[in-house]
Amino acid sequence: MQTKILLPEEQMPKRWYNILADMPPMDPALHPKTGKPVTPEDLSPIFPMELIRQEVAADRFIDIPEEVREILALWRPSPLFRARRLEKHLKTPAKIFYKWEGVSPAGSHKPNTAVPQAYYNMKAGIERLATETGAGQWGSALAFATQLFGLECTVYMVRSSYAQKPYRKSMMQVWGAECLPSPTDRTNSGRQVLQGDPETPGSLGIAISEAVEDAATHSNTNYSLGSVLNHVCLHQTVIGLEAREQLAMVEEYPDVVIGCVGGGSNFAGISFPFAGDKIKGTKPGTDIVGVEPSACPSLTKGLFAYDYGDVAGLTPLLKMFTLGHDFVPPAIHAGGLRYHGDSPIVSRLVHDGVMRAVSYYQNEVFEAAQTFARTEGLIVAPESAHAVKAAIDMALECRKTGEAKTILFNNSGHGDFDMSSYDAFYQGKLVDYEYPAELIRQSLARLPKVG
Ligand SMILES: *Cc1c(COP(=O)(O)O)cnc(C)c1O
Repeated sequence: MQTKILLPEEQMPKRWYNILADMPPMDPALHPKTGKPVTPEDLSPIFPMELIRQEVAADRFIDIPEEVREILALWRPSPLFRARRLEKHLKTPAKIFYKWEGVSPAGSHKPNTAVPQAYYNMKAGIERLATETGAGQWGSALAFATQLFGLECTVYMVRSSYAQKPYRKSMMQVWGAECLPSPTDRTNSGRQVLQGDPETPGSLGIAISEAVEDAATHSNTNYSLGSVLNHVCLHQTVIGLEAREQLAMVEEYPDVVIGCVGGGSNFAGISFPFAGDKIKGTKPGTDIVGVEPSACPSLTKGLFAYDYGDVAGLTPLLKMFTLGHDFVPPAIHAGGLRYHGDSPIVSRLVHDGVMRAVSYYQNEVFEAAQTFARTEGLIVAPESAHAVKAAIDMALECRKTGEAKTILFNNSGHGDFDMSSYDAFYQGKLVDYEYPAELIRQSLARLPKVG
């Protein structure tokens, strides 16, 4: 009766899996001003060349540098668990496995990409990274990674989360980063938003504008993004590569693969190796499911269209599922899932039917997290709880149909800094925001016109 399935350190992946090699050509990212495909030169003011190369690489596998592997080895390979006590509680014939990314120093999957990003920037002679953060997970991951490579770090943190999660800010401080509540009055983008609405809760889209502007206006500074982009999804594939090995050790292959979706990176990480098997036809039947909040339902209710990644329209136009770049989602407690768009690769795979998406309200998500904590012990992040909820629903479906499916989900992070959110849940203060149809309709009407 194995509960924890562990890979020895030597079996940590030596290469990332690049799913672009197995997909039809993607729609190119477009320059926000000219509408023409972006060139490496367009991106070089804010990204190091190696990451620009990885963004469009055609190689199926890309080597993980030794210095990056040495740091990843502080917590990788991460454990894969069989959730036997949860299965028993649900009386399901399904087998539930979860990959646990809460073991990293910052407590989530995000250091998997923060470390290589800091490394490639250090190699390129950059001295400071600017970034945004929602719930504070990405900001703390990048603070940790930059510290290990001797870089400075400035984090624009969405104001609503800055107030809800003060200890995330403290973590960034411990790791030597500067953390500011966004919108700030330090950037043009921030000042503009504050003028329009001084009480704004902020959003990831606004914070991205601030960080990009900071990087673009300082030559020693680059920008770093914790999700959405192809190179971020690439770095996260260590999760799925390890999980596939670990499942093979117990002679399993998943029928269902589940991950929560903010910008799509942890879902990409757990699912791309399995999606690759599906595309290549070796495992055509895998059900690959992204889970998002009903209050910010980009994959389930958005449009597959070109849009900016930020509010001010400074980023390249990406073809993705979007709710409109100036959509400000309700201040739900899964702050890391409040993004208007999604990874272009995940979007394309959903559009092409390789993956699908579902959405849930926050109270049912916290109930699932409670069930998980009371059976498996771990108190998960509100973001991860969306994946827990979908896995539980899938297992209950199996109880009805009698199918003994193998369900794999990514447990993207711990909830140790999310106790104020659990507290709001227990006080009955969590609002199940209806899908904000009218707001989304308005913001979709303001999508940029492309060719
Ligand atoms: C940031 C975050 C997410 C959402 O981001 P993705 O890029 O969609 O993975 C999910 N879970 C946790 C714990 C996070 O910190």
